[in-house]
Amino acid sequence: MSIREEVLFRIKSIDLERKSQPKSVSSYFGENTFNISTMKEHISESTFDAFKRWMSEGLTITIDQANEIAECMKRWAISKGATYYTHWFQPMTGLTAEKHDSFISITAPGKVMEKFSGSKLIQGEPDASSFPSGGIRATFEARGYTAWDPSSPAFIIESTLGKTLCIPSIFISYHGEALDKKLPLLRSDEAVSKAAIGLLRLFGHKDVKKVLSTCGPEQEYFLIDKNYYNLRQDLLLTGRTLVGASSPKGQQLEDQYFGTIKERVVNFMFEVAEEAYKLGIPVMTRHNEVAPHQYEFAPVFEESNIAADHNQLLMELMKKVALRHNLVCLLHEKPFAGINGSGKHLNWSLADDKGNNLLNPGETPEDNLQFLAVLAAVLRAVYNHSDLLRSSVAIAGNEHRLGANEAPPAIMSVFLGDQLTSILNMIEKGAKNKVSKRDIIDLGVTKLPKFNKDSTDRNRTSPFAFTGNKFEFRAVGSSQNISTPIAVINTIIAESLDYVADKIKKASAGKDFNTAVLKVIAELVKESKDIRFEGNNYSEDWVKEAKRRGLPNVASTVDALKALEKKENIALFEKYKVFTKEELLARHKIWVDLYNLTLEIEANTLNEMVNSCVVPSGCEYERLLADNLSRLVSLKKEVKLKLEEAVLDDQKEHLSEVAQKIYYVRRNSKELVKLLEKAAQLHHEEKAELYFKELKPLMEHIRRHVDALERVVSDEHWDLPKYREMLFIK
Ligand code: ADP
Ligand code: MG
Repeated sequence: MSIREEVLFRIKSIDLERKSQPKSVSSYFGENTFNISTMKEHISESTFDAFKRWMSEGLTITIDQANEIAECMKRWAISKGATYYTHWFQPMTGLTAEKHDSFISITAPGKVMEKFSGSKLIQGEPDASSFPSGGIRATFEARGYTAWDPSSPAFIIESTLGKTLCIPSIFISYHGEALDKKLPLLRSDEAVSKAAIGLLRLFGHKDVKKVLSTCGPEQEYFLIDKNYYNLRQDLLLTGRTLVGASSPKGQQLEDQYFGTIKERVVNFMFEVAEEAYKLGIPVMTRHNEVAPHQYEFAPVFEESNIAADHNQLLMELMKKVALRHNLVCLLHEKPFAGINGSGKHLNWSLADDKGNNLLNPGETPEDNLQFLAVLAAVLRAVYNHSDLLRSSVAIAGNEHRLGANEAPPAIMSVFLGDQLTSILNMIEKGAKNKVSKRDIIDLGVTKLPKFNKDSTDRNRTSPFAFTGNKFEFRAVGSSQNISTPIAVINTIIAESLDYVADKIKKASAGKDFNTAVLKVIAELVKESKDIRFEGNNYSEDWVKEAKRRGLPNVASTVDALKALEKKENIALFEKYKVFTKEELLARHKIWVDLYNLTLEIEANTLNEMVNSCVVPSGCEYERLLADNLSRLVSLKKEVKLKLEEAVLDDQKEHLSEVAQKIYYVRRNSKELVKLLEKAAQLHHEEKAELYFKELKPLMEHIRRHVDALERVVSDEHWDLPKYREMLFIK
């Protein structure tokens, strides 16, 4: 029996304990979080007020108050069964990190007590010298510090044998530079808030104190059986299949999209949702995606910083829960060639402190003008800073996805839908010197409908689409931490909102306000027109058209990341205090390095698979054919077996075909090794360029030969699980 056949026998659903009465979600939602209401119950009124002021106005709490909160948090966590705590943070590699400490302190020889002080809550000091800092931390000051981020509630993570209190934190250097993805996001929220308030003031909203970015990330993923996963070095080490002939049936029939979800998968989804609810993560929809074994979770949107933490947690939960069901959750952007990859649609908007969505058309002409001004600011931001948007999704995995025919292209553009497009066109044409209320009505601004999603969301090919009351940034990769894309969006929007507010202020001085606003909108619409595209983003025509318009189409990660080194971009981030120059350059370095490391791991894995698995399988089959042929030849000779020459020729042809394919695979793998040796001499950016231009095509080339071999070798001799098995066996 081949190893693959054995695996077939091992595939089964896990027997689950039946729950007689599923609990209602409201009865346990957020039970494992130390949220505002839990905190209020546990701490004194004065400390609670101080805490709230800290959150809303930035007034710091005293060490006594921190001690009180820490003490309450500890008591709450211990009452829930937690014995350890950890500062939980998001280093620049994209994963989350934690260093666990026990609550116990030694009080006397052989005696311990549970202790957790305010200073430990506020600042941890992990020995984290091996987290990448891109050169920010000099070796003599190698430590990074975690600091409590009170805006995100602490939570308890359960494992079979224990529970851990996790304290969401930022990760900074001794001098306060951001060593993580979270701090820049928090800073960008400040920036966009300030800018948005500035604009809202002009429109008469004097009482708005805070504007927040909101975000709902839709998470796509694949599930495959763990037994198959364990047999594939490529999935195990790189998260994607580096070889594998496509299955005759892929997603052509689209018979999986929104189809019935198989029970095994539904069970997984139930459990993920239950775990997520305990942590206060509001997952809402779940469904099958287009590719076989591809699915999606979408949450109800939240403030961006919470949404970012929740998305990281959700990804971790998905991976953990999948294993309990003998499944593996693949978050890679392109785990399988030839079928859709996975993205993370980032739904983004702005809301004021009363919950008003700034991208919602309003009830009055004035409200609608404000909506159009914000919209125009978004258009301008994407137009002027598409390089930064592109850089925010530049990771090795996403390179396989962007520009492939199911994902948005690497060209950034905005889709608005027919209604808005025609309104903007009218405004652009109708810019007059004096606009009466009547004119506004004529432009349709009064009657701006609440754009419902069904009428605006038809274009699923657009990377940045307006979908009724929010924008959807579809270029984000499924495995990505959303903090950086949000931080970039917030920053470029902040700059644009400031610009628009300034223009309006100047244009309206001593003039009619509405007339001035319309004029500014008309100007912005005209200026940024090239970024708007309503057609099919997957088409070749668009690539040509975009080129004509001068829109960048950046295919490689290393080129996309160059945006972080540009002078004007450094100035932009410094102006809005989101990144310092040093922080930005550090990120550039780390992310180029990460790209190189990813490709090196992939190339070495491919080489190893070829040598340890593909070629041996091929040779075994080759030997079978050779034995067979030589037997036939000798039987013909010795016992005069009747065989036409053509029969022997056919067998010879078969044998040489296999031998030839093995040769191609080996020859190209030797090239691969040489290329890696050559790359080792290069500087990190040159290396990344070489990897993009030469290593990736060579790996693809090897793959084609391996896949051709897979197609001729007998099933019995091929050890690697096949696409049809991984994708179609339930
Ligand atoms: P689709 O798959 O059609 O794009 P979904 O309904 O699956 O749409 O997802 C829409 C996502 O947008 C949800 O996660 C939702 O919470 C989020 N969303 C809705 N309104 C806002 C908003 N104002 N700001 C940010 N995200 C939002
Ligand atoms: Mg979507």
